[in-house]
Amino acid sequence: MQAMIFVTDIIEYLICPVRLYLKKIKNIKIENKRLLRGKILHRAFELFDSFEKEYLNDLELPIELERFTKDYIIMANRGLVRAILEFNAPQTYILELKDIIHREAKFRANYVWSFIEKYGEQFYNKINPIIKSEILLKYNDLVGRIDRLEKYKSGRLIPIEIKTGTYKEYHKIQLAGYAILLEKNYNTKIDVGLLYYTKTDRYIEVELDPYKELFLELYEKVKLFLDSPRMIANKKYCQYCDYKYFCPVYNNKKLEFFNNTDKNLNG
Ligand code: SF4
Repeated sequence: MQAMIFVTDIIEYLICPVRLYLKKIKNIKIENKRLLRGKILHRAFELFDSFEKEYLNDLELPIELERFTKDYIIMANRGLVRAILEFNAPQTYILELKDIIHREAKFRANYVWSFIEKYGEQFYNKINPIIKSEILLKYNDLVGRIDRLEKYKSGRLIPIEIKTGTYKEYHKIQLAGYAILLEKNYNTKIDVGLLYYTKTDRYIEVELDPYKELFLELYEKVKLFLDSPRMIANKKYCQYCDYKYFCPVYNNKKLEFFNNTDKNLNG
């Protein structure tokens, strides 16, 4: 069976090819945990979307913003708990994922609230764009999960990648990967995406075309790499790397060792 390539695999490769090797070929457990985490989040938001639709259909106005936001958090918690049960996953995922799910719930409550304030009873049909979270997309062997998606009534789509850390140039390549997946799935052109940094509450608008080209080049490289991997390491990241305890390079085993000669895209 052809191995699936995640958009994040392309970024792993950029950061350090050995990491991608450990993740995809050695199937190190950290990856399994991340996959489960991603599946739970996706399912939790699927459930949250359906709860939200039902809730907004039945919503009686007026309502206080505080009450409205609390209801969103309750729906998000219900989605998360149910998703964890469906995957038979440990309850520890509640603690691990609640911040993400609460952040999105609060964001979406405030967003919908702005339409309620402006349009009163008529708000539901006025919501534009519709916001979706954790969208899973697939095209051939490429898979990606978009943090947030703005869907305009005109058909325009804007992908948003949310980052808790600081800006890195490769965030733009990741965003371009999601744009390509959206283009293939929705048969449309995505020119612009947004990077959102939670620490600074700052958005960066990204013109995606040049990064799409870069992404596709890297995608081809990753396919070749997975067919015949070489131990190309990037020592700069070792101290932050989750894989270091499993990594033959970090642990000084005898393997071919190069500094990563790809363009320095790490900001
Ligand atoms: S420990 Fe260093 S060399 Fe090993 S995978 Fe991580 S970044 Fe790469």
